[in-house]
Amino acid sequence: MSSRIVDTVRFDALIPLLAQRGYTVIGPTVHEGVIVLDEIDSSEDLPIGWTESSEAGTYELVERGDDAYFGFTIGPITPKTYLYPPVQTLLTITHAETGLVFAPQPVDPRRYAFVGVRACEIAAMGIQDRVFSDGAATDAYYTKARERSFIVGVNCSVAAPTCFCSSMGTGPRCTSGYDLVVTEIIEDDLHEFVVRSGTEAGEDIAQALGGRATTATDSLRVNAIITDTEAHMGRTFPEAEAYDILTKNLESPVWDSIAERCLSCTNCTLVCPTCFCSTVDDITDLEGTAARTRSWDSCFGLDFTNLHGHSVRSSPGSRYRQWMTHKLAYWYDQFGSSGCVGCGRCITWCPVGIDITAEIVNLETQSKVAL
Ligand code: SF4
Ligand code: SF4
Repeated sequence: MSSRIVDTVRFDALIPLLAQRGYTVIGPTVHEGVIVLDEIDSSEDLPIGWTESSEAGTYELVERGDDAYFGFTIGPITPKTYLYPPVQTLLTITHAETGLVFAPQPVDPRRYAFVGVRACEIAAMGIQDRVFSDGAATDAYYTKARERSFIVGVNCSVAAPTCFCSSMGTGPRCTSGYDLVVTEIIEDDLHEFVVRSGTEAGEDIAQALGGRATTATDSLRVNAIITDTEAHMGRTFPEAEAYDILTKNLESPVWDSIAERCLSCTNCTLVCPTCFCSTVDDITDLEGTAARTRSWDSCFGLDFTNLHGHSVRSSPGSRYRQWMTHKLAYWYDQFGSSGCVGCGRCITWCPVGIDITAEIVNLETQSKVAL
């Protein structure tokens, strides 16, 4: 494995190189005023010179005044969208002379290269790996897509006001789970990238990029960037205390306060890189063919727990409590870690700005008042 310095000209070869190796390259790009993930062909497709101004319930792109390739954090779309698509056909049923033909949907043969994946998102992929690939029942669609994927991580040089990966131990430095990891350095007239390989596939690409080997000074420059990002982390979260705070306050009035604001819109679950719930539908058409599809579902929907004509969680407060206690407490019992990586998306993309970092503090404060 190697660590090298490449200039922008050499770095611009990365995306075409990945395409030449047979990857469908997915990376950040600007679309309708938002940084989203999409197929990209070159560095020119990246959000060069843009950053976000985000807070609870707000998001806006702002010009940085430089040519940074990765001078932003994350948008609402996560690699989950490609590894575990929002709608997946599982089975098609057609008529033949011999009767009905049931055909399982083949696994998508595409190999994805994800460019610009942040440390929190790599941690989220690790969580989804445990859910979809490590249990007694594995998901072939996710597992195959993940096995074939190539990850270009990026160490964050800025933190959004809604970020709290430091509190969750998931960022801002990419420590594992990448094929290549990039740190962008912009100093006066200098614009270059430290590119470190983490796998043989990554080393193959790194060698093709060329450049010079890094020195101890370069490592210090990388460390300084990451330390500065940590110092500007927008929010904190009491990760070690969350289990107790949540499970000891299941009847707190804070849940009612949240219910007065929550629209049950499901945004928070749809943007979350670790949420994995789905529902299955059988769809027929007038020609007599049918398909079974799997779609993302959300614990904020009334249908999610509909049993015998009634929803088990009929109030928004009970649904928010289910989401927060599962994600931040019972996930430890189920998967051995928190289900939150501190990306802050659920805060930014909640239309009424409900903030899990504030609500956990409200729960703790309220429980002390009640004593
Ligand atoms: S719960 Fe919110 S902050 Fe945590 S991983 Fe999901 S979207 Fe990100
Ligand atoms: S917490 Fe916010 S994003 Fe989540 S369902 Fe309620 S209103 Fe929608």
